[in-house]
Amino acid sequence: MLTPDTTPSDNSAARAPGQSAPLLRVNQLVKKFPVKGGLFGKVVDHVHAVSGVSFDLAAGETLGLVGESGCGKSTTGRCVLRLIEPTAGEVWFEGREMGAMNRAELRALCRQMQIVFQDPYASLNPRMTVGSIIAEPLHIHGLASSPSEFDDRVVHLLKTVGLHADHARRYPHEFSGGQRQRIGIARALAVSPRLLVCDEPVSALDVSIQAQVINLLEDLQEQFNLTYLFIAHDLSVVEHISDRVAVMYLGRIVEIAPAQELYSAPKHPYTEALLSAVPIPDPTVTRKRIVLQGDVPNPIHPPSGCHFHPRCPQASERCRNEVPLLREIAPGRQAACHLND
Ligand code: SF4
Repeated sequence: MLTPDTTPSDNSAARAPGQSAPLLRVNQLVKKFPVKGGLFGKVVDHVHAVSGVSFDLAAGETLGLVGESGCGKSTTGRCVLRLIEPTAGEVWFEGREMGAMNRAELRALCRQMQIVFQDPYASLNPRMTVGSIIAEPLHIHGLASSPSEFDDRVVHLLKTVGLHADHARRYPHEFSGGQRQRIGIARALAVSPRLLVCDEPVSALDVSIQAQVINLLEDLQEQFNLTYLFIAHDLSVVEHISDRVAVMYLGRIVEIAPAQELYSAPKHPYTEALLSAVPIPDPTVTRKRIVLQGDVPNPIHPPSGCHFHPRCPQASERCRNEVPLLREIAPGRQAACHLND
């Protein structure tokens, strides 16, 4: 049953076209964080971080998950990996529902799903050598049996991400931001995962380094048939790496489409506004900038109807009262906007 916390969607919502058995299926995912207050720290309200998110991800595919800060995209990624427990909804991996798994099964599954964090400065333990950081998951999952096997695997992983064997003896502070992100990627690859959740992996890096890391991720995907959930706040970052892009606003997916189609003809006013801020490399082409008024509303008390209506230049009375269905508007494309009815 749908609750006010979920986005109504048809059953084909956010499915990859022509896809029968996805590697990952997220179905009506909900995450609410309690807000405590008063003298006794009682729960007085909830932050509605994720409100009924559904999507599929095929093996070898990259889905870009985009939206402003606080829209719930990182929370979605963390719920998929069970780093935080969802409030409701289902996450299926290779046809098995994670909520029904016991601790041992979940632990085994963790190997298949890894994360690359946003901040390469904060995500590496400064007191450990790079070799120990990369070897840690090998130890945890018992993936090497002798010191020389550990060393060989660490050196191989360093080379795979474009670093050198002697980097294993150094500490994270001796590396640049781009190199640290490569170390984070090597650590994620150590357990031979199938799915990588890349949570804003290039946001903390200089623009000149961002392309190098994205190229590396593309090369690794081809080499290891990896599947990516690529989270970013900037549509320009996900454009080249994504097969499809899902746009999130205030806990809901508002549009999902093959990347090229979404960039050339967005079907949701929020996507249009985000795209209008993306620079076009061709100086002869101009795009009208849409400046959204106001900030993202408070997720403790999200607006009624379409969450985007207080900022939408095309909002009508219906938008204030009726939640738009995330539904198929063309083969392989879904949008949640009354304008598409
Ligand atoms: Fe704008 Fe209404 Fe569409 Fe929401 S449903 S995006 S408020 S036009």
